[in-house]
Amino acid sequence: MYPTVGRFGRLTARLSQAAEARRERAPPTAAAVSVNRHMGPHAEPLLPRDVTANFVLPARERSWLETCERLLDFVPKSVRTADSEKAEELFIVMTLFYSATTTYQGAIELCRQGFSDQALMLNRALFEVMVDAHWAHANPDEANARYTDHAVFSNSKNHELMSRYSDLIREDLPQPVGSAFVSSDEERKRLERLYGRHGNKSWTGLSLHERVELIAPAWESEGERRFLRFFRDLAGRLSNETLHPSAAAIFRQVLPPSAERTEMPTVRLRQGPSLELFTQALFGAMWSYGQLLGRIVEEFNLPTREGMIEAYTNAYRLFYVPSEEDRRSTGRNDPCPCGSGRKFKHCHLR
Ligand SMILES: [Zn+2]
Repeated sequence: MYPTVGRFGRLTARLSQAAEARRERAPPTAAAVSVNRHMGPHAEPLLPRDVTANFVLPARERSWLETCERLLDFVPKSVRTADSEKAEELFIVMTLFYSATTTYQGAIELCRQGFSDQALMLNRALFEVMVDAHWAHANPDEANARYTDHAVFSNSKNHELMSRYSDLIREDLPQPVGSAFVSSDEERKRLERLYGRHGNKSWTGLSLHERVELIAPAWESEGERRFLRFFRDLAGRLSNETLHPSAAAIFRQVLPPSAERTEMPTVRLRQGPSLELFTQALFGAMWSYGQLLGRIVEEFNLPTREGMIEAYTNAYRLFYVPSEEDRRSTGRNDPCPCGSGRKFKHCHLR
């Protein structure tokens, strides 16, 4: 059984609401840079080099961060399986898992420093690695074939680019890894169909949408599968909007007009740490990573399973906001719908 079973069905994370409530409490720091619309960028003030020097994560955010960070206590230092065939099957999964672990640590550190937008950018990668690990777990033979295909394709692409830009590349730079190259035109066409002419498609040869649909059955309840798709569709969209220059990303840079009147109309731009997207960033990272860690704990039947579920549930509960439906259908003395086991009135009713 998957560790998170039964916990998502009734959970509603109202992320945008949480972010709004947070905004009203006025985020710390965020030095404003004024840009004069008519004169171009101001000559001063210069931005301080150390933008986080005066940044202190508020107590509430710090405790949320520490709760999410506890997932890392359950990362196995090593895993063993006596079955060598199984070990081969799990090679890609484990590689993805440990790479996701480092990305999760990175997202946590960025949140700690108040770089919540940048942490959100990592969530896009974290979600994809989580999806790929589940896909590779369910399709080990195909995953191995795609891994080899992608290695050959990337190797040829890199080699081709290094020849094209040889005047820009130092001769002592490390050469591309591996020695296998695309061997025929037919082979090239096949690989380009999988990975695109410029090689910018996933190593799996499948779109994110396709992969999510293929792995969805691993989540046992409809509520959990809905959550998985929610992350692909809405949360994925938000982190993409942050990752790439987008109308939304450009707009988010602009601070509300300042009260002081100036002769020239100015636009104030956000700079430095900001907690505006802290909730989304932390929740997204914790959720994606939790799904992957849960799968690994399950796969190897690790003795830390119960502790991991508890840590995950504690973290999840932070972001839970009861829906109107939950409020209507849950009595004050009923168990809280978040799954804490406490009475609603002592938990999320407050
Ligand atoms: Zn609760």
